[in-house]
Amino acid sequence: MACVVQKYGGSSVADVEKIRKVAEKVAATRRAGKDVCVVVSAMGDTTDELLALAKRVSPAPPRRELDMLLSAGERISMALLSMALNDLDVPAISFTGSQSGIITTDAHANARIVEVRPKRVHEELEKGKVVIVAGYQGVSTRKEVTTLGRGGSDTTAVALAAALGADCEIYSDVAGVFTADPRVVPSAGRLDALSYEEMQELAAAGAKVLNAQAVEFAKEKGIAIHARSTFGAADETVVRGGAHPERIAGVATRRELALLAFPAARLEDVLGLLERHGAVATELASPGEGAGVALDLENVHDWPVLRGRLAEAVPGLVAEDEAIGSVSVVGTGLSAGHRVLREVTGSLAALGARPRAVFTSALRVTVYCDAAVLKDAAREIHRRLIG
Ligand code: ASP
Ligand code: MG
Repeated sequence: MACVVQKYGGSSVADVEKIRKVAEKVAATRRAGKDVCVVVSAMGDTTDELLALAKRVSPAPPRRELDMLLSAGERISMALLSMALNDLDVPAISFTGSQSGIITTDAHANARIVEVRPKRVHEELEKGKVVIVAGYQGVSTRKEVTTLGRGGSDTTAVALAAALGADCEIYSDVAGVFTADPRVVPSAGRLDALSYEEMQELAAAGAKVLNAQAVEFAKEKGIAIHARSTFGAADETVVRGGAHPERIAGVATRRELALLAFPAARLEDVLGLLERHGAVATELASPGEGAGVALDLENVHDWPVLRGRLAEAVPGLVAEDEAIGSVSVVGTGLSAGHRVLREVTGSLAALGARPRAVFTSALRVTVYCDAAVLKDAAREIHRRLIG
């Protein structure tokens, strides 16, 4: 029988009413004769609230304990959705990431899936049940509960789809992938199709609609991702292999970043410390004697402690972390000239913001700047380059 993995994001299961509506959608798919495995995120802002709760108890909570706490969010929604389905006379059962066989590295708060052993999922699907899986979590080979980094439920969905040989549908509050966040840039348009490479770059640049690691997984396994809206129109964006004509795919922004500058000779020390804290450098530059690293702090939950250790271990290190953001343009053939970079810096200049650091590749132009101008910058750059 055809099998589909459907993932529903936090806003799609934000309250009881929405959970019931998602249950009806899942029930309809099941009644149409498909095997259905559902991956859920935590309800609404639950993950943010749990993180805030942890920070009220401790400014630098141990990452293992954070994972015990944060993984609870998805357990709530999985159980509630299963109850709602059973209420509709659709037999369903919920599993945690660990019960579903999602095996990960032991990098707490930012773990990577290394293997999926969906034995129990298979067994229950064979019995005709809908299986609900808690997204964003797994278990390490040391039997510790881990989480996959913010937005990680997408990764759970793609990994399960690969393991089950299923189609993969990702439902959220936007109808696919847009040329910019449509809540910020009203003229943004939906893209019908994107290559894995374009989507990976957009996700890495901050587009929240699909998680970067999820796309990496899909590319590796050759799985097409269908991104759709849960309650809206049937439009979708398909992310799959294959090239597109040269084009600008979109504009994306990130906030909560830090820029580190230090003597190039200390690069190893810096990277070692970052690794021990589960922090990943997004961009690296080492022109001559000086080196620079950009850090995404989204999955770094003890930044004040890490910053202190860096300052202690690396004399001459300067860390900028006050309202640092980045704006990126993603597309193909961007390194053919400087037009895109000049439009980005020109837009920032028009807003009175100065570029703090620049990164370019064939697929992306990223400029770090004051986070306060990000929304205006996205609108202006989109207007100049896309319309
Ligand atoms: N609940 C987690 C988060 O908010 C994971 C996810 O939604 O994918 O990041
Ligand atoms: Mg969420």
